[in-house]
Amino acid sequence: KHNPQGDTHFLEDESTKIFARKVADHYSARTNQTLEEREASPIIHLKKLNNWIKSVLIQLYAKRGDAVLDLACGKGGDLIKWDKAKIGYYVGIDIADGSIEDCRTRYNGEADHHQRRKKFSFPARLLCGDCYEVRLDRVLADDAPFDVCSCQFAMHYSWSTEARARRALANVSALLRPGGIFIGTMPDANVIVRKYREAEGLAFGNSVYWIKFDEEFSEKKFKSSNPFGIKYKFHLEDAVDCPEWIVPFHVFKAMAEEYDFELVFVKNNHIFVDEYMKKPEFVELMRRLGALGDGNQDQSTLSPDEWEVAYLYLAFVLRKRGQPDQT
Ligand code: SAM
Repeated sequence: KHNPQGDTHFLEDESTKIFARKVADHYSARTNQTLEEREASPIIHLKKLNNWIKSVLIQLYAKRGDAVLDLACGKGGDLIKWDKAKIGYYVGIDIADGSIEDCRTRYNGEADHHQRRKKFSFPARLLCGDCYEVRLDRVLADDAPFDVCSCQFAMHYSWSTEARARRALANVSALLRPGGIFIGTMPDANVIVRKYREAEGLAFGNSVYWIKFDEEFSEKKFKSSNPFGIKYKFHLEDAVDCPEWIVPFHVFKAMAEEYDFELVFVKNNHIFVDEYMKKPEFVELMRRLGALGDGNQDQSTLSPDEWEVAYLYLAFVLRKRGQPDQT
């Protein structure tokens, strides 16, 4: 009461924390599925396609012996991909304690439906924490520098405030070695905004997803250099149901440059699939994962509605400036 401005700041800060908790609780509550449940999912082919996209990114940029930081690692669904890349060390962090527990179980090879008692060839450290709030350079001072940082389908949870978006990039930049690589996937704001404009009202979607904006979407805010906190609710059948934030990629790129990153590429996931499906080794990987079927009538394939969800995302690669230490 004595300090109304202070109260306002307090409220803003509190609501940011409440939303971060909502996201964490949502993911924590998602239990591990059995193989049968997974195969019966209405978005099983989309999940396989997303796994293919992440595998391609990892195969393109991870090298034998690399130290890897997996921000928002979830249940450790990418552990096998990193193992195939023969990395030397892995640190995974996620805000959802339930997911980190599942990740630990998977790493230890216990009661896992996807792979029985697989032992990973790299040592790992798994932590529960808010990657967009905590100063990870302090927490991980003894683990750094990393050769590769990965943030899959999660960077947009940092865009609720400018402070969090900056903390996210500052963390990655401080922990990567010069010349280190930052790979990720996140919603493609241009596609989401285009769909919003085409829709009547605040919501749009199809049989497997919907997006609903809280209020009239602000073009002005989207185009400004200060486009944080543009919130919408995202529902993806059998996967996601929580608040998310728009990340205009041009602002993300400009901000990343402030933290010593240069853009290697950004591609919408449709373009990404088209491009890397021209390479035989990745076609073979797609066949093994079964995302697009193999023309065999027995094997089902991605539905048009799942393919539309793939269009909502992009993949990016950033490189930390500087030359790797030659010593
Ligand atoms: N990267 C994993 C993958 O590709 O399978 C998980 C992706 S899932 C769509 C998003 C993840 O981001 C969830 O595990 C969630 O708990 C995590 N997350 C959201 N906000 C976070 C934060 N502030 N700090 C750390 N993790 C966060």
